[in-house]
Amino acid sequence: MSTVDLPLLPLGRGKDLSAERGVECPGDLPAASDPDLVARAQAAKEALGSRVFVLGHHYQRDEVIQFADVTGDSFKLARDAAARPDAEFIVFCGVHFMAESADILTKPEQQVVLPDLAAGCSMADMARLTQVEAAWDAMAAAGVQQQVVPVTYMNSSADIKAFCGRNGGVVCTSSNAQTALEWAYEQQGPDTKVLFLPDQHLGRNTAVLQLGLSLDDCVVWDPHRPNGGLTEQQLRDARMILWKGHCSVHGRFSEDVVDDLRAADPDINILVHPECKHEVVLKADLIGSTEFIIQTIEAAPAGSSWAIGTELNLVKRLADSHPDKKIAFLDRNVCYCSTMNRIDLPHLVWALESLVDGVVVNRIEVDPETEKWALVALERMLSLPGKTAKD
Ligand code: SF4
Repeated sequence: MSTVDLPLLPLGRGKDLSAERGVECPGDLPAASDPDLVARAQAAKEALGSRVFVLGHHYQRDEVIQFADVTGDSFKLARDAAARPDAEFIVFCGVHFMAESADILTKPEQQVVLPDLAAGCSMADMARLTQVEAAWDAMAAAGVQQQVVPVTYMNSSADIKAFCGRNGGVVCTSSNAQTALEWAYEQQGPDTKVLFLPDQHLGRNTAVLQLGLSLDDCVVWDPHRPNGGLTEQQLRDARMILWKGHCSVHGRFSEDVVDDLRAADPDINILVHPECKHEVVLKADLIGSTEFIIQTIEAAPAGSSWAIGTELNLVKRLADSHPDKKIAFLDRNVCYCSTMNRIDLPHLVWALESLVDGVVVNRIEVDPETEKWALVALERMLSLPGKTAKD
């Protein structure tokens, strides 16, 4: 059951064994040193033929991406999966919430497999349903709940998407967050407030830079403090209630690195994802989703110089495929998304070979009630005017 109220993180600390599910795979996980892993993955894929469709998120390792039938961001991949109703098995090389979205958007008989169940998302885990429901009750007590429209980023668990569906809200991606917020602010008249889940940075960046709200219009709901750390008056005065969540990868980028890079190379272009902190985004030249980042680098002239603030696997792949451009990572340290990186070749081989043997491992299945309401929120997003929805 995908909606169990347990975080997928922290991993490997031995404190909450049920939260570390998937760390040990049942069955024979091939050794990472096995020299035949590539051949084994190829053979298993060939044996499965069109019965299997392998999706690879942009943040996946190269060793995994080479076996992806399609690559993309989370929303594109979920739609790609929905466009392949003939595929019996969808092997999702990404993280848990993405596999849930694929399950919601595909047919009930299609089975979605996540090669390692410990591939969660720290941001998605920062907003859990019980916490959000407690916040919702507090908004009722403050007399503002009727005015609040919940909006959740695609990077959230299925039960949070379902919460938004049940309560008149919508899902958004990093590409259509502006359109989704404009839609939300029309729902309850001039006094509408938005509860933005779970990424405070995407919410703040979009509200301030694209909708013209001020930083003072935004408050942060901290689920670990009584009443979110806010007074009822603060809730009544706010226009944007940001959930205190963030991406552990994008939250690392800092202003001082931007300053250092500009000092070293005045021609450098700073290109960042809107999950970065507001102060970093303010210093950037360009801001956009993973697809926007890829398209920007593809269109950039030879010899141009870039520092990119997004996950390192993608930045490295862009640097490798554009040797005519100077491409740097916007951090002094190497920092991959540790949960994305949990999907490695041994897990992929194990998942594919199990399917060849007729065993479906690590199936991600959203329960029908959650799926119904999550689909309501997703379909509201799909009917938004304007741009194509992309992460
Ligand atoms: S990069 Fe950030 S938002 Fe994306 S899966 Fe990793 S922790 Fe989650």
